[in-house]
Amino acid sequence: MFSAIDHLFMARALRLAQRGLFTTTPNPRVGCVIARDGKIVSEGWHRRAGEAHAEVDALNSLNSLEAAGDTARGATAYVTLEPCSHHGRTPPCVGALIDAGVARVVAAMQDPNPQVAGRGLAALTAAGIATESGLMEAEASELNVGFVSRMARGRPWVRLKLAASLDGKTALKNGVSQWITGPEARQDGHRWRARACAILSGIGTVREDDPQLNVRGVATERQPLKIVVDARLELPPEARVLAGGHLLLVSAVADGAKAEVLRQRGAELLTLPDGTGRVDLAALMMELGRRGINELHVEGGRRLGGALMRAGLVDELLLFLAPCLIGDAARGMFDWPELGSLDGKQRLSISDLRLVGGDLRVLARIDRAIAARN
Ligand SMILES: [Zn+2]
Repeated sequence: MFSAIDHLFMARALRLAQRGLFTTTPNPRVGCVIARDGKIVSEGWHRRAGEAHAEVDALNSLNSLEAAGDTARGATAYVTLEPCSHHGRTPPCVGALIDAGVARVVAAMQDPNPQVAGRGLAALTAAGIATESGLMEAEASELNVGFVSRMARGRPWVRLKLAASLDGKTALKNGVSQWITGPEARQDGHRWRARACAILSGIGTVREDDPQLNVRGVATERQPLKIVVDARLELPPEARVLAGGHLLLVSAVADGAKAEVLRQRGAELLTLPDGTGRVDLAALMMELGRRGINELHVEGGRRLGGALMRAGLVDELLLFLAPCLIGDAARGMFDWPELGSLDGKQRLSISDLRLVGGDLRVLARIDRAIAARN
Protein backbone atom coordinates (compact mmCIF):
# COMPACT_ATOMS: atom_id res chain seq x y z
CA MET A 1 0.00 0.00 0.00
CA PHE A 2 1.21 3.47 -0.84
CA SER A 3 0.78 6.42 1.48
CA ALA A 4 -0.01 10.02 0.60
CA ILE A 5 3.63 10.92 1.10
CA ASP A 6 4.66 8.09 -1.26
CA HIS A 7 2.46 9.70 -3.92
CA LEU A 8 3.95 13.12 -3.22
CA PHE A 9 7.52 11.90 -3.63
CA MET A 10 6.77 9.84 -6.74
CA ALA A 11 5.03 12.86 -8.29
CA ARG A 12 8.21 14.81 -7.63
CA ALA A 13 10.32 12.04 -9.20
CA LEU A 14 8.07 12.17 -12.30
CA ARG A 15 8.57 15.93 -12.56
CA LEU A 16 12.34 15.37 -12.39
CA ALA A 17 12.08 12.70 -15.10
CA GLN A 18 10.27 15.25 -17.32
CA ARG A 19 13.45 17.33 -17.42
CA GLY A 20 14.94 14.69 -19.72
CA LEU A 21 12.01 14.94 -22.16
CA PHE A 22 14.13 16.27 -25.05
CA THR A 23 17.47 14.58 -24.29
CA THR A 24 17.46 11.00 -22.96
CA THR A 25 16.82 9.17 -26.25
CA PRO A 26 17.28 6.25 -26.80
CA ASN A 27 17.03 5.86 -23.03
CA PRO A 28 13.82 6.42 -21.08
CA ARG A 29 13.14 9.56 -19.05
CA VAL A 30 13.67 8.66 -15.38
CA GLY A 31 13.59 10.60 -12.13
CA CYS A 32 14.54 9.61 -8.57
CA VAL A 33 13.83 11.00 -5.12
CA ILE A 34 15.59 9.77 -1.97
CA ALA A 35 13.63 10.49 1.20
CA ARG A 36 14.02 9.79 4.89
CA ASP A 37 11.79 10.63 7.83
CA GLY A 38 9.25 12.22 5.49
CA LYS A 39 11.76 14.60 3.92
CA ILE A 40 13.52 14.60 0.55
CA VAL A 41 17.26 14.27 1.16
CA SER A 42 18.32 14.08 -2.48
CA GLU A 43 16.97 13.91 -5.99
CA GLY A 44 18.24 13.14 -9.45
CA TRP A 45 17.27 12.52 -13.05
CA HIS A 46 18.70 11.01 -16.18
CA ARG A 47 19.98 13.66 -18.59
CA ARG A 48 21.30 11.75 -21.58
CA ALA A 49 22.55 8.35 -22.67
CA GLY A 50 25.99 7.52 -21.32
CA GLU A 51 25.53 9.75 -18.26
CA ALA A 52 24.38 8.79 -14.76
CA HIS A 53 21.02 7.11 -14.39
CA ALA A 54 18.55 8.92 -12.13
CA GLU A 55 19.29 6.75 -9.05
CA VAL A 56 23.06 7.24 -9.33
CA ASP A 57 22.57 10.95 -10.04
CA ALA A 58 20.56 11.27 -6.81
CA LEU A 59 23.13 9.26 -4.82
CA ASN A 60 25.98 11.31 -6.31
CA SER A 61 24.49 14.62 -5.29
CA LEU A 62 23.87 13.16 -1.85
CA ASN A 63 27.53 12.24 -1.53
CA SER A 64 28.58 15.70 -2.58
CA LEU A 65 26.19 17.21 -0.01
CA GLU A 66 27.13 14.90 2.86
CA ALA A 67 30.78 14.41 3.70
CA ALA A 68 29.91 11.25 5.58
CA GLY A 69 27.84 9.94 2.66
CA ASP A 70 25.63 8.01 5.06
CA THR A 71 22.33 9.82 4.65
CA ALA A 72 20.89 7.24 2.27
CA ARG A 73 21.20 4.49 4.90
CA GLY A 74 17.68 3.43 5.81
CA ALA A 75 16.12 5.82 3.29
CA THR A 76 13.47 5.16 0.64
CA ALA A 77 14.33 5.61 -3.03
CA TYR A 78 11.43 6.55 -5.33
CA VAL A 79 12.22 5.77 -8.97
CA THR A 80 9.93 6.28 -11.96
CA LEU A 81 11.26 3.10 -13.64
CA GLU A 82 12.54 -0.16 -12.17
CA PRO A 83 16.30 0.21 -11.39
CA CYS A 84 18.53 -1.57 -13.88
CA SER A 85 20.39 -4.72 -12.90
CA HIS A 86 22.44 -5.12 -16.08
CA HIS A 87 25.60 -3.41 -17.25
CA GLY A 88 24.76 -0.92 -19.98
CA ARG A 89 26.94 2.08 -20.72
CA THR A 90 26.99 2.69 -16.93
CA PRO A 91 27.16 0.19 -14.00
CA PRO A 92 23.82 -1.14 -12.73
CA CYS A 93 21.80 1.07 -10.39
CA VAL A 94 20.76 -1.91 -8.28
CA GLY A 95 24.35 -2.23 -6.98
CA ALA A 96 24.57 1.48 -6.22
CA LEU A 97 21.30 1.39 -4.23
CA ILE A 98 22.45 -1.68 -2.27
CA ASP A 99 25.84 -0.07 -1.53
CA ALA A 100 24.14 3.12 -0.37
CA GLY A 101 22.14 1.09 2.17
CA VAL A 102 18.63 2.20 1.24
CA ALA A 103 15.94 0.28 3.11
CA ARG A 104 13.12 0.55 0.56
CA VAL A 105 12.77 1.09 -3.16
CA VAL A 106 9.47 2.18 -4.72
CA ALA A 107 9.27 1.97 -8.53
CA ALA A 108 6.47 3.49 -10.59
CA MET A 109 6.70 0.68 -13.12
CA GLN A 110 8.69 -2.38 -14.08
CA ASP A 111 11.18 -2.21 -16.93
CA PRO A 112 9.02 -2.85 -20.04
CA ASN A 113 11.77 -4.91 -21.66
CA PRO A 114 10.37 -8.47 -21.34
CA GLN A 115 13.92 -9.80 -20.92
CA VAL A 116 14.51 -7.53 -17.94
CA ALA A 117 11.10 -6.95 -16.33
CA GLY A 118 11.25 -7.58 -12.62
CA ARG A 119 14.90 -8.59 -12.37
CA GLY A 120 16.08 -5.28 -10.94
CA LEU A 121 13.46 -5.38 -8.20
CA ALA A 122 14.18 -9.08 -7.55
CA ALA A 123 17.88 -8.33 -7.09
CA LEU A 124 17.01 -5.59 -4.57
CA THR A 125 14.67 -7.93 -2.71
CA ALA A 126 17.38 -10.60 -2.62
CA ALA A 127 19.65 -8.02 -0.97
CA GLY A 128 17.10 -7.52 1.80
CA ILE A 129 15.60 -4.26 0.50
CA ALA A 130 11.82 -3.79 0.64
CA THR A 131 10.53 -3.20 -2.90
CA GLU A 132 7.21 -2.07 -4.29
CA SER A 133 6.10 -1.29 -7.84
CA GLY A 134 3.09 0.32 -9.51
CA LEU A 135 2.86 3.72 -7.81
CA MET A 136 1.62 6.23 -10.44
CA GLU A 137 2.31 3.65 -13.09
CA ALA A 138 0.00 5.20 -15.70
CA GLU A 139 1.82 8.54 -15.51
CA ALA A 140 5.24 6.88 -15.65
CA SER A 141 4.28 4.71 -18.61
CA GLU A 142 2.84 7.73 -20.42
CA LEU A 143 6.06 9.70 -19.97
CA ASN A 144 7.95 6.91 -21.77
CA VAL A 145 5.25 5.87 -24.23
CA GLY A 146 7.85 5.50 -26.98
CA PHE A 147 10.34 3.51 -24.92
CA VAL A 148 7.55 1.19 -23.77
CA SER A 149 6.44 0.75 -27.40
CA ARG A 150 9.95 -0.08 -28.58
CA MET A 151 10.55 -2.56 -25.76
CA ALA A 152 7.16 -4.26 -26.09
CA ARG A 153 6.66 -4.17 -29.89
CA GLY A 154 10.12 -3.51 -31.31
CA ARG A 155 8.93 -0.33 -33.03
CA PRO A 156 8.46 3.34 -32.13
CA TRP A 157 5.33 5.05 -30.87
CA VAL A 158 4.07 6.80 -34.00
CA ARG A 159 2.47 10.22 -33.54
CA LEU A 160 0.96 11.78 -36.64
CA LYS A 161 0.67 15.56 -36.47
CA LEU A 162 -1.96 17.32 -38.55
CA ALA A 163 -3.08 20.93 -38.80
CA ALA A 164 -6.57 21.41 -40.18
CA SER A 165 -9.60 23.64 -40.24
CA LEU A 166 -12.43 22.83 -37.86
CA ASP A 167 -14.10 20.95 -40.72
CA GLY A 168 -11.03 18.72 -41.00
CA LYS A 169 -9.51 20.19 -44.14
CA THR A 170 -5.74 20.50 -44.42
CA ALA A 171 -5.33 22.38 -47.69
CA LEU A 172 -7.15 23.88 -50.62
CA LYS A 173 -7.70 21.66 -53.64
CA ASN A 174 -4.67 23.29 -55.29
CA GLY A 175 -2.47 22.25 -52.37
CA VAL A 176 -2.15 25.66 -50.69
CA SER A 177 -1.87 24.79 -47.00
CA GLN A 178 0.46 27.20 -45.20
CA TRP A 179 -0.49 28.74 -41.87
CA ILE A 180 -3.91 27.32 -41.20
CA THR A 181 -3.17 27.37 -37.45
CA GLY A 182 -1.80 30.22 -35.33
CA PRO A 183 1.75 30.92 -34.03
CA GLU A 184 1.12 29.30 -30.61
CA ALA A 185 0.05 26.04 -32.26
CA ARG A 186 3.08 26.10 -34.53
CA GLN A 187 5.39 26.61 -31.57
CA ASP A 188 3.65 23.83 -29.66
CA GLY A 189 4.21 21.64 -32.72
CA HIS A 190 7.95 22.30 -32.38
CA ARG A 191 7.84 21.16 -28.74
CA TRP A 192 6.35 17.85 -29.91
CA ARG A 193 9.11 17.61 -32.50
CA ALA A 194 11.71 18.27 -29.80
CA ARG A 195 10.60 15.32 -27.66
CA ALA A 196 10.59 12.94 -30.63
CA CYS A 197 13.63 10.85 -31.49
CA ALA A 198 12.95 11.33 -35.19
CA ILE A 199 10.75 13.37 -37.55
CA LEU A 200 9.32 11.60 -40.58
CA SER A 201 7.94 13.19 -43.71
CA GLY A 202 7.11 12.17 -47.27
CA ILE A 203 8.62 13.27 -50.56
CA GLY A 204 5.36 14.96 -51.62
CA THR A 205 5.45 17.34 -48.66
CA VAL A 206 9.19 17.88 -49.03
CA ARG A 207 8.83 18.85 -52.69
CA GLU A 208 5.81 21.08 -52.08
CA ASP A 209 6.86 22.86 -48.90
CA ASP A 210 10.67 22.38 -48.76
CA PRO A 211 10.56 21.95 -44.94
CA GLN A 212 13.68 21.85 -42.75
CA LEU A 213 12.22 19.13 -40.45
CA ASN A 214 14.11 20.45 -37.44
CA VAL A 215 13.18 22.00 -34.09
CA ARG A 216 13.02 25.79 -34.04
CA GLY A 217 12.01 28.26 -31.34
CA VAL A 218 12.34 25.68 -28.55
CA ALA A 219 15.38 25.44 -26.25
CA THR A 220 16.87 22.01 -26.89
CA GLU A 221 20.40 20.70 -27.23
CA ARG A 222 19.37 17.83 -29.51
CA GLN A 223 17.88 17.80 -33.00
CA PRO A 224 15.85 14.71 -33.92
CA LEU A 225 16.88 12.45 -36.76
CA LYS A 226 15.22 13.54 -40.02
CA ILE A 227 13.61 10.85 -42.17
CA VAL A 228 12.04 11.24 -45.60
CA VAL A 229 10.15 8.45 -47.37
CA ASP A 230 11.12 8.91 -51.02
CA ALA A 231 10.28 5.72 -52.94
CA ARG A 232 11.81 6.78 -56.28
CA LEU A 233 14.66 8.96 -54.95
CA GLU A 234 13.13 12.21 -56.17
CA LEU A 235 14.59 14.44 -53.47
CA PRO A 236 16.10 17.53 -55.10
CA PRO A 237 19.80 17.89 -54.11
CA GLU A 238 19.09 21.51 -53.10
CA ALA A 239 16.25 20.58 -50.69
CA ARG A 240 16.54 22.35 -47.32
CA VAL A 241 16.04 19.06 -45.46
CA LEU A 242 19.57 18.06 -46.58
CA ALA A 243 21.12 21.03 -44.77
CA GLY A 244 22.36 20.36 -41.24
CA GLY A 245 21.77 17.24 -39.17
CA HIS A 246 21.42 13.62 -40.13
CA LEU A 247 18.90 12.77 -42.88
CA LEU A 248 17.78 9.20 -43.45
CA LEU A 249 16.32 8.86 -46.94
CA VAL A 250 14.19 5.75 -47.40
CA SER A 251 13.55 4.54 -50.93
CA ALA A 252 12.19 1.53 -52.78
CA VAL A 253 14.82 1.67 -55.52
CA ALA A 254 18.59 1.52 -55.52
CA ASP A 255 19.31 4.14 -58.18
CA GLY A 256 23.11 4.36 -58.14
CA ALA A 257 23.61 7.76 -59.76
CA LYS A 258 20.87 9.60 -57.81
CA ALA A 259 21.88 7.85 -54.62
CA GLU A 260 25.47 8.99 -54.99
CA VAL A 261 24.48 12.64 -55.44
CA LEU A 262 22.29 12.52 -52.32
CA ARG A 263 24.96 10.71 -50.32
CA GLN A 264 27.43 13.41 -51.23
CA ARG A 265 24.92 15.94 -49.89
CA GLY A 266 25.07 14.09 -46.54
CA ALA A 267 22.01 11.80 -46.70
CA GLU A 268 22.07 8.22 -45.47
CA LEU A 269 20.20 5.97 -47.86
CA LEU A 270 18.09 2.99 -46.88
CA THR A 271 16.33 0.80 -49.45
CA LEU A 272 13.22 -0.97 -48.16
CA PRO A 273 11.04 -1.99 -51.13
CA ASP A 274 7.62 -3.55 -50.50
CA GLY A 275 7.49 -5.30 -53.91
CA THR A 276 4.99 -2.84 -55.44
CA GLY A 277 7.34 0.09 -55.95
CA ARG A 278 6.62 1.64 -52.55
CA VAL A 279 8.55 1.72 -49.32
CA ASP A 280 7.74 -1.07 -46.86
CA LEU A 281 6.57 1.13 -43.99
CA ALA A 282 6.17 -1.73 -41.50
CA ALA A 283 9.76 -2.81 -42.16
CA LEU A 284 10.85 0.82 -41.74
CA MET A 285 9.23 0.97 -38.29
CA MET A 286 11.07 -2.19 -37.18
CA GLU A 287 14.34 -0.75 -38.52
CA LEU A 288 13.72 2.48 -36.57
CA GLY A 289 13.05 0.38 -33.48
CA ARG A 290 16.42 -1.33 -33.96
CA ARG A 291 18.02 2.11 -34.22
CA GLY A 292 16.63 3.10 -30.84
CA ILE A 293 13.85 5.42 -32.05
CA ASN A 294 11.27 5.60 -29.25
CA GLU A 295 8.91 8.35 -30.41
CA LEU A 296 8.42 9.05 -34.11
CA HIS A 297 6.83 12.37 -35.06
CA VAL A 298 5.19 12.29 -38.50
CA GLU A 299 4.47 15.44 -40.49
CA GLY A 300 3.64 14.26 -43.92
CA GLY A 301 0.94 14.93 -46.40
CA ARG A 302 -2.27 13.05 -47.09
CA ARG A 303 -0.48 10.24 -48.89
CA LEU A 304 2.07 9.31 -46.24
CA GLY A 305 -0.45 9.82 -43.44
CA GLY A 306 -3.00 7.66 -45.27
CA ALA A 307 -0.45 4.94 -46.05
CA LEU A 308 0.65 4.77 -42.40
CA MET A 309 -2.97 4.74 -41.20
CA ARG A 310 -3.95 1.98 -43.61
CA ALA A 311 -0.90 -0.08 -42.59
CA GLY A 312 -1.99 0.19 -38.95
CA LEU A 313 1.23 1.96 -38.02
CA VAL A 314 -0.15 5.16 -36.47
CA ASP A 315 -0.65 5.11 -32.70
CA GLU A 316 -1.77 8.65 -32.01
CA LEU A 317 -3.05 11.70 -33.86
CA LEU A 318 -1.88 15.14 -32.76
CA LEU A 319 -4.50 17.41 -34.30
CA PHE A 320 -4.36 21.19 -34.32
CA LEU A 321 -7.74 22.47 -35.43
CA ALA A 322 -8.03 26.11 -36.45
CA PRO A 323 -11.31 27.97 -35.83
CA CYS A 324 -12.25 28.28 -39.50
CA LEU A 325 -14.11 26.36 -42.20
CA ILE A 326 -12.67 25.67 -45.62
CA GLY A 327 -15.43 23.68 -47.23
CA ASP A 328 -16.09 20.40 -48.99
CA ALA A 329 -13.94 21.00 -52.06
CA ALA A 330 -10.75 21.24 -49.97
CA ARG A 331 -8.46 18.34 -49.08
CA GLY A 332 -9.11 16.12 -46.09
CA MET A 333 -6.59 14.76 -43.62
CA PHE A 334 -5.76 11.42 -45.24
CA ASP A 335 -5.74 9.56 -48.46
CA TRP A 336 -8.36 7.18 -47.11
CA PRO A 337 -10.54 4.63 -48.89
CA GLU A 338 -14.28 5.32 -49.12
CA LEU A 339 -16.23 3.32 -46.56
CA GLY A 340 -19.07 1.09 -47.70
CA SER A 341 -20.56 1.24 -44.24
CA LEU A 342 -19.94 3.07 -41.01
CA ASP A 343 -18.92 -0.25 -39.45
CA GLY A 344 -15.56 0.29 -41.13
CA LYS A 345 -14.85 3.58 -39.35
CA GLN A 346 -11.62 3.99 -37.40
CA ARG A 347 -12.37 4.46 -33.72
CA LEU A 348 -10.26 6.84 -31.66
CA SER A 349 -9.93 7.64 -27.97
CA ILE A 350 -9.33 11.27 -27.08
CA SER A 351 -6.61 11.39 -24.44
CA ASP A 352 -6.11 15.15 -24.22
CA LEU A 353 -7.97 18.25 -25.37
CA ARG A 354 -7.00 21.87 -24.91
CA LEU A 355 -6.82 25.33 -26.46
CA VAL A 356 -3.40 26.38 -27.75
CA GLY A 357 -3.63 30.05 -28.61
CA GLY A 358 -6.81 30.27 -30.65
CA ASP A 359 -6.59 26.69 -31.94
CA LEU A 360 -7.93 23.45 -30.57
CA ARG A 361 -5.40 20.71 -29.85
CA VAL A 362 -6.72 17.17 -29.78
CA LEU A 363 -4.64 14.14 -28.89
CA ALA A 364 -6.49 11.06 -30.12
CA ARG A 365 -5.31 7.46 -29.95
CA ILE A 366 -6.05 4.78 -32.47
CA ASP A 367 -8.07 2.16 -30.63
CA ARG A 368 -6.42 -0.66 -32.56
CA ALA A 369 -2.97 0.51 -31.45
CA ILE A 370 -4.03 0.44 -27.83
CA ALA A 371 -5.28 -3.14 -28.22
CA ALA A 372 -2.11 -4.13 -30.09
CA ARG A 373 0.08 -2.89 -27.27
CA ASN A 374 -0.97 -5.77 -25.08
ZN1 LIG B 1 20.19 2.31 -14.02
